[in-house]
Amino acid sequence: MNIHEYQAKAVIKEFGAPVSAGVAAFTVEEAVAAAQQLPGPLYVVKSQIHAGGRGKGKFKELSADAKGGVRLAFSLDEVKKHASEMLGHTLVTIQTGTEGKKVNRLYIEDGSDIEKEFYLSLLVDRETSHVAFVVSTEGGMDIEAVAHDTPEKILTFSVDPATGFMPHHGRRIAAALGLTGDLAKQAAKVGQQLYTAFTVKDMAMLEVNPLIVTKDGKIKCLDAKIGFDSNALFRHPDVVALRDETEEDAKEIEASKYELSYIALDGTIGCMVNGAGLAMATMDIIKLYGQEPANFLDVGGGASKEKVTAAFKIITADPKVKGILVNIFGGIMKCDIIAEGVIAAVKEVGLTVPLVVRLEGTNVDLGKKIIRESGLNVIPADDLDDAAQKIVNAVKEVS
Ligand code: GDP
Ligand code: MG
Repeated sequence: MNIHEYQAKAVIKEFGAPVSAGVAAFTVEEAVAAAQQLPGPLYVVKSQIHAGGRGKGKFKELSADAKGGVRLAFSLDEVKKHASEMLGHTLVTIQTGTEGKKVNRLYIEDGSDIEKEFYLSLLVDRETSHVAFVVSTEGGMDIEAVAHDTPEKILTFSVDPATGFMPHHGRRIAAALGLTGDLAKQAAKVGQQLYTAFTVKDMAMLEVNPLIVTKDGKIKCLDAKIGFDSNALFRHPDVVALRDETEEDAKEIEASKYELSYIALDGTIGCMVNGAGLAMATMDIIKLYGQEPANFLDVGGGASKEKVTAAFKIITADPKVKGILVNIFGGIMKCDIIAEGVIAAVKEVGLTVPLVVRLEGTNVDLGKKIIRESGLNVIPADDLDDAAQKIVNAVKEVS
């Protein structure tokens, strides 16, 4: 689960991390009132969307010279002008895709005088099973580009959970950023604070880009992006309260209500599968035969008829879906339950695209019989290879 920058800053501030003073705003009037609470004369008006690259982003509705989703303002009038250009408009950045994201909230910050911009992030390194730091002197820009062009400018190290964050980790961060003296101490402290925040709050990712040195010699987190581990959210009701559903895919929200693991993708073939491994294999084989999956969907091991119906509805509600492949291995889950769920869903929502069903495992004969006798136009398949070819061909015929 992701949160907005201003919320992320409030979270890390709880752990002592240095951030600028700021106030969130939902209207132009609130934005001006927010700036009035700040010392000035430099303010930063920041669009709050769940995507990075805002500074270099462009608003769809505005002319090309109305630049950026993060702007400096030198007066309250300028705050007002920027706020009215941002609110309600669609910001397109390298991370939003061409459709962009509508800006509904702003964050008005006390502006900083920047001496240097660095990059610092924490994530879970699955290879070492440790929390890893990624540190670079190249801040304020796209870290993927830095990793590609100048990988030697990125330091990565992991922290052993048995020891936690140690003074030597702090020294490594400072050294990688070329800092000495008091700035080195400040950077080490921020490393410690962010590590504590990361572990206490069960984060999956915490990115500060840029981490800055101000002209008056202070280290500060100027941007913050946090992704929380969804599996640990039950431990953090305070984090759940920060959720902004308008930033999430409506289909994914619906899926989470039924505890379906669903991720929307860009392809044309909707997939309903049980088990994450089988779901991945199904996506791979669709690609092998030249089409792209429209989603990842794992209905889980013990799915009920209701869950299957909900899953089917979510898939068919996606206008990109030109065909559906149901691929179920009945183990704990029985094939006849799946068949009944699919038929109930088709009867409820209708079927306007080809549907291939491949069932295997417990009660497979009963499942196939239910589908056969349903009178619905379902294309049966015997194995995964057969199923993938059938749905790919069916989609090609209709498009
Ligand atoms: P992003 O583009 O979505 O990553 O948004 P950021 O919060 O990182 O802001 C983009 C850029 O705006 C930063 O890299 C800074 O260069 C600039 N910026 C943000 N806040 C300030 C500020 O307080 N003072 C100055 N001078 N520049 C800022
Ligand atoms: Mg940034």
